[in-house]
Amino acid sequence: MFGSIGNVYVHDILFKAKIHPQIPVNTLNDSQIDNLFEIMIENLQKSLNIGGLIYEMDFYGKNDGFPREDFFVAYKEGEKCPDCGTTIEKIKTGSTSSYICPDCQKLN
Ligand SMILES: [Zn+2]
Repeated sequence: MFGSIGNVYVHDILFKAKIHPQIPVNTLNDSQIDNLFEIMIENLQKSLNIGGLIYEMDFYGKNDGFPREDFFVAYKEGEKCPDCGTTIEKIKTGSTSSYICPDCQKLN
C-alpha cells in the first residue's frame, strides 16, 4: 500500500496514525484507515510546503528540503518519542527496517 511513498515518510505516517508496521492492513477498521489516509496527505503536504521533492528526495543529503529535525521517529533510534518520551526502536519489518515508538504503536 505504501509502494510509492518513500520510507522516510512511512515511518512517521504510521507513528502519527499509531499503527504498528507489522499490523496487516486488512485488519484495520474503517476509522483507522480514514485516519491513516488523512495523516498520509497531511504528512506529504507538509513536506511539499517545506520544499521537499517527494519523489526525488535523497535522504542522504542531495536535496535537503526536509530536515531530519522534522522527522518524528524516522531514523531516530534511541531518541525519545515526541509524544510520550519512550525510547524509539528500530525493528525488522520484512526486508527492511522500521522505526517505531513501542508505546504509541502497539502490535495488538
Ligand atoms: Zn510514544
